[in-house]
Amino acid sequence: MSKATGQNKTFPIGERLFALCERLFPICRSITGDGVRETLSILKEYINLEIKEVASGTSVFDWVVPKEWNIRDAWIKDEQGNKIVDFKNNNLHILNFSSPVHGKIDLATLKDHLYTLPDQPVLIPYRTSYYKKNWGFCLPHYQYEQLENSTYEVYIDSTLEPGYLSYGELYIPGESEREILFSAHICHPSLANDNLSGISVLTQLAQKLQEQRNQFSYRFIFIPGTIGAITWLAQNEKKLKNIHAGLVASLLGDAGNFTYKKSRRGNTEMDFVVRQVLQKLKHPHEILEFIPYGYDERQFCAPAFNLAIGNLTRSQFGTYPEYHTSGDNLQLIKPKYLEASFHLYDAIVHFFENNIYFKNQYPKGEPQLGKRGLYDAIGGNSDSKKMQMVMLWLLNLSDGQHSLSHIAHKAGYDLTLVKKVSEILEEKGLLKRL
Ligand code: ZN
Repeated sequence: MSKATGQNKTFPIGERLFALCERLFPICRSITGDGVRETLSILKEYINLEIKEVASGTSVFDWVVPKEWNIRDAWIKDEQGNKIVDFKNNNLHILNFSSPVHGKIDLATLKDHLYTLPDQPVLIPYRTSYYKKNWGFCLPHYQYEQLENSTYEVYIDSTLEPGYLSYGELYIPGESEREILFSAHICHPSLANDNLSGISVLTQLAQKLQEQRNQFSYRFIFIPGTIGAITWLAQNEKKLKNIHAGLVASLLGDAGNFTYKKSRRGNTEMDFVVRQVLQKLKHPHEILEFIPYGYDERQFCAPAFNLAIGNLTRSQFGTYPEYHTSGDNLQLIKPKYLEASFHLYDAIVHFFENNIYFKNQYPKGEPQLGKRGLYDAIGGNSDSKKMQMVMLWLLNLSDGQHSLSHIAHKAGYDLTLVKKVSEILEEKGLLKRL
């Protein structure tokens, strides 16, 4: 498939999503460095991404932006000078963030720096050492077992120097300042489902949203996992009040059923919307309670922020056998799965765009309904008792966080009726449309 395919709108959407993954796959990414920059500059061809650089050493809450890691080459040679492990064949061969090294060592010393998967002997593991200075190589276990007791030459041509942490951000202003946030991590090297599938689906979604008028504003961030999310949060704390809801996108290209991990609050608008849309599209799925482990929803749902942000994936984090191994490659993901994931995300956006959000203008206690003639307004209706209840539900839940659909669902009334009553309350000035 040609590089141009990724931008060519005449190709089916699944093919376009896959083509972008294919294009990004060979790049050796990490939490900092040129691999991240190259990835972001490719995304910039598709969307109006702003690339931000935060200097190493910058304090971000309890963390510090690390040094910049760049790597050019790495290998292990046997006594005869044959390269038996070569970074240029697969960038997972290097322990990500390895310090530079060059020298001859014996097998026992070498083994202290080798990482394998004894239970999956043909796969290369993906390992990192961001916050502890180290060097190492990752290789299939069967190859490890064949290593002879002799001398090996190891070479890692890398640099760990003060530089920057790079991330990409796209803000698409809508009619309202209220935002929906989408985030994907961009720190994994050649892994397809875990990393690239989320990047690709969000890029496609951003491309669509930047070309249309929207009710909500949308923010897309492409950030290195954990440290990137923490850096973004530290630098954008003031903007967080506008975030209505959001999703962390990852693992969207494999054959697994959809999995939604709820926000920490567990009852937010996003939690409601994802459930509704999954049911409506009749996708088999699983909904999980929040746990403080997984992707960057951990950071967005930290107690001080507690945002309405969940994690929507296909297979669950860490559960498929190829996870964090060389098996998570372009054969694991399929255009049709990426496409279904895109349509799901798109349907979620559609739900937000087509819902009405009200704010109760008299939220301090129940407003006095009698003096506004509201009992008379509904009195003549055959279902006036029901309408009275709907009125109370609307007044109570119109906090800007609940859509009319959400209120109807919670109250257990038909949406048409809820809409009708909301119009009466709006006319009387009790509810204001956001
Ligand atoms: Zn991962």
